[in-house]
Amino acid sequence: MAQNKEKVVIVGGGIAGLSAGIYALMAGFDAEVYEKNAIPGGECMGWSRNGYHIDNCIHWLTGTDQNTGLWKVWKDVGAIDENTEYADTAKFYSSRVGDTELTLWKDLDRTEKELVEKCPEDEAEIRKFIQYVRYAETCQIPSIKPMDMMGVKDYIEMGKAMADMPKVMKEYGRISCRELGMRFKSPVLRKMMSDYLPGEYTAYSFLVSYATMTSGNGNIPMKGSLAMTLRIADRFRKLGGVLHTSVSVKEIIIRNKKAEGIKLEDSTEVSADHVISAVDTDFLYGRLIDRKYMPSDLAKAYEKRKEYPITTGFQVAYAIDDSFSGEDTIFFDCEPLKVGARSFSRLSVKNYAYDKSFAPEGKAVLQANLLQTDEDYLFWESLSPEEYKAKKAELAGEITKRIVTEFPELEGRIELLDAWTPLTYNRYCNAYHGSYMGFVTTVGNKQMRFKGVVKGVSDLYVAGQWIMSPGGLPIAVISGKFAVQRILKKQGRSIDI
Ligand SMILES: Cc1cc2nc3c(=O)[nH]c(=O)nc-3n(C[C@H](O)[C@H](O)[C@H](O)COP(=O)(O)OP(=O)(O)OC[C@H]3O[C@@H](n4cnc5c(N)ncnc54)[C@H](O)[C@@H]3O)c2cc1C
Repeated sequence: MAQNKEKVVIVGGGIAGLSAGIYALMAGFDAEVYEKNAIPGGECMGWSRNGYHIDNCIHWLTGTDQNTGLWKVWKDVGAIDENTEYADTAKFYSSRVGDTELTLWKDLDRTEKELVEKCPEDEAEIRKFIQYVRYAETCQIPSIKPMDMMGVKDYIEMGKAMADMPKVMKEYGRISCRELGMRFKSPVLRKMMSDYLPGEYTAYSFLVSYATMTSGNGNIPMKGSLAMTLRIADRFRKLGGVLHTSVSVKEIIIRNKKAEGIKLEDSTEVSADHVISAVDTDFLYGRLIDRKYMPSDLAKAYEKRKEYPITTGFQVAYAIDDSFSGEDTIFFDCEPLKVGARSFSRLSVKNYAYDKSFAPEGKAVLQANLLQTDEDYLFWESLSPEEYKAKKAELAGEITKRIVTEFPELEGRIELLDAWTPLTYNRYCNAYHGSYMGFVTTVGNKQMRFKGVVKGVSDLYVAGQWIMSPGGLPIAVISGKFAVQRILKKQGRSIDI
């Protein structure tokens, strides 16, 4: 007689939850995912407006190089494979000040040539920056097993593969992006270095981000974020997983120090042999289980709001003609604009013309994202529903004006599609202060990394981007795999899945 399989119940159907579900099935468990929204994917998302598709996640997907361990994880979960088509974009982004425009190309030699030609006064610092981006190309996210399960051999191999990374950490690990900018004399280079990531981020995060692109390990899959999410959900279902959508989980049931299942919003109880939480950790510790279970490092980070900032955004999407010449992402100066609690004198637009599936023929989607953090979230939260609506519309109008001032060719040819705020992420994903990444890695703070187990409770595991700074899709996807490996390890089984 066939033996009943053990059941893993997963709370949250974002990338981490779906990954946990897939690896649980691959390891021979039954798996059910409970997702509060009608569509899985959480923050890896896109939606339609007036015949346009607003793609709202992947600016780069780390792990598109087939020689990396992360590529195998993305393949396991059905996100990408050998035949995946990627966006044919040549640039990381451009920065403009006055008439001078510089570009960080995917081709690092081209960047070096352009930067040295246009800013000869910074030649030595540019050449050093380029050299260190090359070193940073060796950076890899450990994806075979959790680091605490690695043996000496694993560490030696990792050390060999990332031999040049310590140099990057030594030179750029203790300065912020803003300080990196100050090393240059050219006004454009100064601004460029803290255009993409906020000024307080560590400079090495910026180098690693750019290096991910230049090494070919950070491409953008065509058809965007939602299509990738749906491929992963499809893989989960095909392996036999059950995906419950539009079902909110109210509580994780803990009895006798053991997770026994979950309670849904309508108070239905679902039993489980193992529970994996793949929701935001602020929501897990406090709403689904008692706050007392929160690891102390994480609790401290939530208390120290200045030291551990979060990343969210006020975003606007437009329909434009695809003949618009400002291609890809470009940053430029603008008349100061207060958004949330802070004022901006630089703005960026990203042109999505590279993917024709996002817009009707002859058209494209253009997006602006003004980065927001904790105090901005509190500003948005303080508004009444009427004030909130009015503020969104007012700011969208102000941003449109500034875009048209910079790109007069868009006058009369730019149509607002949608605007959303940090509150949107909180409402849609239960994301802490609307954060769509983990805590920001700054020069002063400690990188967040915790095991994904809950001290004092057996059979409860934690996945999701918050288990390791700075979050993002790679951490989300590996955290799902790691949670299942922890179950296997506890059962004395092989963790090779
Ligand atoms: C604008 C933007 C750009 C980004 N760009 C990039 C990028 O270029 N590269 C990159 O790597 N990352 C990027 N990210 C970050 C990336 O999207 C996230 O790091 C990742 O999707 C987080 O996945 P997760 O599964 O950990 O969390 P989430 O996506 O938050 O998933 C949690 C899920 O749990 C569900 N949930 C919450 N509460 C409950 C409940 N009570 N019951 C049931 N379900 C519940 C939520 O609805 C959600 O689906 C970007 C994000 C945004 C928004």
